[in-house]
Parts: sequence; C-alpha cells; structure tokens
Amino acid sequence: MEDNKKLAEFLFPHIDKTPEYYEEIFPQRDLKEGAKVCRFSPSPTGFLHFGNLFTCFVSYAMAKSSGGVFYVRVEDTDQKRSVEGAIEVMLKGLSVYGIVPDEGVIGDREEKGIYAPYYQSERKEIYQTFAKSLVEQGLAYPCFMTPEELEEIRESQEGESIKGIWGKYAKCRDLSFEEVKTRIENGEIWTLRLKSPGTLEGKCFFDDMIKGKIEMPENVQDIVILKSDGIPTYHFAHAIDDHLMRTTHVVRGDEWISSAPIHLQLFKILGFKVPKYCHVAPIMKEEDGGKRKLSKRKDPEAAVTYYIEQGYPSDSVNEYMMTLANSNFEDWRRMNQTEPLSKFPFNIKKMSVSGALFDIVKLTDVSKNVISKMSAQKVFELSYEWAKEFDKELASLYEKDFERITAILNIDRENKKPRKDIAKWSDIKEYISYMFDETFIPNFELSGNADSALAVDVLKKYREVVNLSDDKDTWFSRMKDLCAEVGCTPNVKEYKANPDSFRGHVGDVSTIIRVALTGRVNTPDLFAITALLGEETVKNRLEAALKHYEEEN
Ligand code: GLU
Repeated sequence: MEDNKKLAEFLFPHIDKTPEYYEEIFPQRDLKEGAKVCRFSPSPTGFLHFGNLFTCFVSYAMAKSSGGVFYVRVEDTDQKRSVEGAIEVMLKGLSVYGIVPDEGVIGDREEKGIYAPYYQSERKEIYQTFAKSLVEQGLAYPCFMTPEELEEIRESQEGESIKGIWGKYAKCRDLSFEEVKTRIENGEIWTLRLKSPGTLEGKCFFDDMIKGKIEMPENVQDIVILKSDGIPTYHFAHAIDDHLMRTTHVVRGDEWISSAPIHLQLFKILGFKVPKYCHVAPIMKEEDGGKRKLSKRKDPEAAVTYYIEQGYPSDSVNEYMMTLANSNFEDWRRMNQTEPLSKFPFNIKKMSVSGALFDIVKLTDVSKNVISKMSAQKVFELSYEWAKEFDKELASLYEKDFERITAILNIDRENKKPRKDIAKWSDIKEYISYMFDETFIPNFELSGNADSALAVDVLKKYREVVNLSDDKDTWFSRMKDLCAEVGCTPNVKEYKANPDSFRGHVGDVSTIIRVALTGRVNTPDLFAITALLGEETVKNRLEAALKHYEEEN
C-alpha cells in the first residue's frame, strides 16, 4: 500500500492534481430530461470516409433529435497519423452536410466549451492524473518489456485463444518498488499497464442501442494505458474523455465492439458510469454477389470529397444517409414530402445491425427527387457555387445571363410533377448544352415515324409559322394545324386506329422540330425551350436541319 503511493509519486512527480479536481472543474451537464450528449472524435488524418460521415451523421441526429449536445473531440495522440490542416478539412466536410458542433473543436486550434481542451494531445496531464491514481490504488503498474520480448510472446501465442499480456506473460506485474526505481534510474523504457482484475470465467454484458444485448468474456489482459511517452492509448483516453466530457451516448464504428470489455472494465475501475454504446456497422458494397466494406482504396465514393466534387447537393446526401440509417424513412418521406429532414423521428434502434448497403443508383434517385423539388433560384444558386469551384466552363455559361439561366433551370420545374433529370450539378452542363450555341451539338437522328422526307415538309412549313411571341396554346394549335398540312394527324388515337392513312402524328411532328432545335429526341417542354433559344438561334437551327434533311433525301 505504502509502496503503491511511493511508486505513484516516483512515476508522476509532476502531477499535483487529483481526479476529484477534474470531476469538479468538468461538472455534470445541466440538461433537460432525455437530452443526449454525443460526440464525433476523428483522428486528424485529413481523409473523411463516407462511413465516418455516416457515423457522425447518426451521432449528430441522436444529439439533436433529443435536444442535447453534439461536440467534436480530436484524437491526435498518434502524431504519426496527424496531418497538417486536417481538422479544417474535416470540419468543412461536416459543415457541408449541416453538421456544426455545438461544442468542442470548431476550427483549427479553435475550441468552444467548458470541457476543453478537446484535443487529446493537450490533455496529457489529465490522463496522467487518473493514471497516477490507479497506480496509488495498485491498479496499474509500469512494464519494462521490450518490443522484442512482446513480439516473442505474440509469436508463442499463435493458436491460443487468449492473447496479449496476462497471467504468466505479465512479467512486470509484481515488481517491487525498489526494482522499478532502479530500472527507471538505469534508463529503462516503461509503459503503464492496467492490472486487470478480470478472470477467465468472468463475463461482461452491455446493451448496445444498435446491436442489442451483448455478452462477452471479461478482459483479462493487462493492457497498456500510457505509452512510453506518457501519451494514453485509445482505450484509456476514451474512458477518461467520454466520462469527463459527460458523454451520454458513444456512437462509433463497430470495429470497437471487440474492445468493449476493456472499456467496460476501465469505466468500472475508474468509478465512472458507463455511457450507452451505439456501434454503427460499416457501410457495405455489393461485389461479385458478395458484400464488402466500402473501401477507401477501391471506391471513389468512399471519400466525402467525391460527393462535393460531383455536385451532389448536401440535402441529397443527407436524405440518402437517412435512408441508410432508418429503413422506415422512405415511407415517412412519401407521406411528408415537404417536411425538413430534421422533422423525421430518427430512431437509432432501427439501424441495420449488419451494415447498410451503399447503392449509387439509389443515391441518384434520391437526389433527382430532392433537386426536382428545389426552386429554380435555389438550383441556380447551388449549382453556380459548385460550378465556380469545379466547372469554370459551366460558370461562364451562367455568367452570360443569370436571368436566362434561371429561366432555363425553371423549365418543367415549380409545378406538381417536376421533371427528375438532374441528380448532381455535374449533370447540368450536358443537360442544358443545347441552350447555348457554343455547346450545342447538332444531331439529326429521328425516331418514330419521323423520317427525312417528312422532316423536310415539316420544317419548311414550321419556319414559316413559328412565332416566338405566341403563347403556349397558340403555339400548340399551330403545330396541330401543321399536322394536317403534311399528311399527319394531330390526334394520336386517330393515328393508332388507322396508321396507314397518315404519315405520322403530332408526336412525330414535334420530334422533328425538337431534334432540329436541340439535337435530341427527349427534352423538357419544347415550347419553353423555343422561347428561350431566341428568334435567331431558332431560325438558324431550323435552316441547318432543313438543309441536312434535304441533302439526305
Ligand atoms: N478516433 C477513433 C477513430 O477514428 C474514434 C473512435 C470513437 O469514436 O471512439 O476510429
């Protein structure tokens, strides 16, 4: 007992605070009933994986839907993995999706909140205070085993069910104070290990909010809690930080489940209340009939920057993430088409236990739907912002005439059944290319009953009657009148009943005009397109098409 105290003082002479001190300066949060405190704790690698964004999205939704607090803590204890400027990049990535922390790290070296510091690299003294206290109680000890010795043990344990430093392998567990002192004074390197109270028969239990009730063997390993440089391992830092920052729900990747027995043991030994765990399964991808994790190496869509560069609106990605998170979301969305996503009663218990499947086709559908409901003004603003950064050519098309581009984007929009052609901003340039002479690609291929002979007759007549100041009804009745003059019928039913009596129907006539004006057989509202093309362009394109079909005949 006396020796433990002496040892603690010898190992940590610079530590003059106590755990009680920190308990006091980091008080319990004053929250309303049911409010949850959740966090996102990235390592500053600079790469934001879609899976991390998804886990963060879930954590954020948990906190926000309960009226609680969401904070960001940076796990930068592994200096080798830290990348300059990474936090800025990650926070920017999150803010694109509306995830703005209430507390914690809010910018590069910028923090907010009374539980600071939120960078683990600045909390060394706190971890060591708790470590010192464990040594005092005989619950942790310095270990002098060398990397070579540890490697040897690892090799000798191949095939054994329990690995690591425990039982006979824990060589430094019972060293006397004198021996420790001498070895340290001789310059031997040491780490601090937990003196695990676990037994081989012992079990631990927890009720994971996603995975359900879990029973696992208790931890028996004397795990390292402080590395030789005095920096904590993930396990120790997790227990101290989530306790002192008063986290109620730990939402993290399910790769941590296997370490949960260590964490439960640490919480118990430290006298902390265990938070609720929510272990999120990884996002999966289908491949060769099987499933695998979405991979940073193999899948471009694993990087959050992919969605930003492609121009998927953040609303689309958020909606899509909610479809991955809660399978009942799509039904809710059908019933609540205009509600904001935040109104959805997100339920963590409805999350997939084994991992939701990533599906780009589904994201495309979701996004087309989201964009179809946006106003032309919003589509203009968001896509222009995107174009300025990722597609200068599109941006300069926009800059020719903002009013005209907004009108183009408004074709077949802001009505009951808007078209769903655009899934991402990078689709727009191709989608509207025929609206500009510099990007228009003539193409005279026809479909249906339309052939070049009919095209010649239709175009000759149409160029005589086309009038850009017509309203839609007048324009359409001109089209119908034209049908009769070229041996077609304005009535599709009539054509179907008697196909041999006509050269085609009104659809074929409009196809000819559509192809002449746009180079395509399928476009949004031809009347609106014609009006926005302007007199000169319409005339030129009709002439060019007529010339083409005349030559073909
Ligand atoms: N820094 C850990 C990681 O990136 C965080 C795990 C956690 O949320 O506790 O995996």
